[in-house]
Amino acid sequence: MYELPAKVRGFKPYDPITGYYKIRLDANESYVDINDYIEGGVAGVAAKVAYNRYPDAAAAKLCSTIAKSFGLNERYITTGNGSDELISIITSVLLEKGQTVLTSEPDFSMYRFYPSVYELGVESVQKNDVLEINVDELLAKANAINAGMIIFSNPCNPTSTGLCREEVLRIVENAPGLVVVDEAYMDFWDQSILDVAADYDNLIVLKTCSKALGCAAMRIGFAVAGERITDVLRAVKSPYNTDSFSQELATALLSREGIVEELSGLMIESRKELYAEIVKLAEKKSEILKVYPSKTNFVFMKMKDSRSVHKKLLERSIAIRCFDGYLRITAGKAEENEAVIKALEEVLE
Ligand SMILES: *Cc1c(COP(=O)(O)O)cnc(C)c1O
Repeated sequence: MYELPAKVRGFKPYDPITGYYKIRLDANESYVDINDYIEGGVAGVAAKVAYNRYPDAAAAKLCSTIAKSFGLNERYITTGNGSDELISIITSVLLEKGQTVLTSEPDFSMYRFYPSVYELGVESVQKNDVLEINVDELLAKANAINAGMIIFSNPCNPTSTGLCREEVLRIVENAPGLVVVDEAYMDFWDQSILDVAADYDNLIVLKTCSKALGCAAMRIGFAVAGERITDVLRAVKSPYNTDSFSQELATALLSREGIVEELSGLMIESRKELYAEIVKLAEKKSEILKVYPSKTNFVFMKMKDSRSVHKKLLERSIAIRCFDGYLRITAGKAEENEAVIKALEEVLE
């Protein structure tokens, strides 16, 4: 009889949320409809794809559009089926058996998940009381365990906090191995290290079209790294990991001048409003213990009892994200923000 390997026994599919909810502010998605930002809309792009042909394995047109849009050299870009796939590829390919991945806690759950699948060690350092990474502690631990890879999001999901560019580069320059900086939310902040990603031989910066660009459905992420690492990523990814339609759609969207700033600007406005309202609520409601200053498109708050509040909002058909002791609310349309504030007003003590 075939036995499943012990490492995967009990694994369940990733299931952020089930059921229908009128208001969805649980996954940090954009509230913008990208149809309004593409000439001829999504349908126009879809009509032009040659569906009988395999996609361009190198996604050359998309890579050059990304390069132009972000001021990069296309030679340093590898596209993935979402940045999630790239995290999986990087973890499985760029480490040796027996090596350990170091991340921070709390941070994106996938950083721990993939190493566990690939039978690597995983260690983490706890973020400090303002939920920021203590860089000295991270580096001390990395060097003590000779971490094969350090990975963290900046700014961070779920904490909404971030490290300034100098601090991130201090990590890169003093790490014993590879450093992966996930800038999924950097479109909402200004401390990117994308421009120097290729200058370091141990650095990969990850970006995604799923958040500020409003394209979570189409699964496009990209990695930016020097030629040596880029060549490996391009060689080991499955050839057709990004489909023709998504390549065309991302190309159409990113070809529009200033699109990243335009879309992220809308969401930053929404987040500022949501944040201000939640801070006001926190002054009245003792169940909100702390609201963290946000550098992202969501607000993260420490709660006396996150589970019960989460449940009460679900009963009102509002989905937000619940963690142990914390809640995370994505900034949405004005009326969605108002609805979640009104519901919190009602359910909180
Ligand atoms: C949403 C998110 C991603 C996933 O991006 P995809 O490109 O949709 O796979 C990666 N990293 C972080 C920190 C995220 O929050």
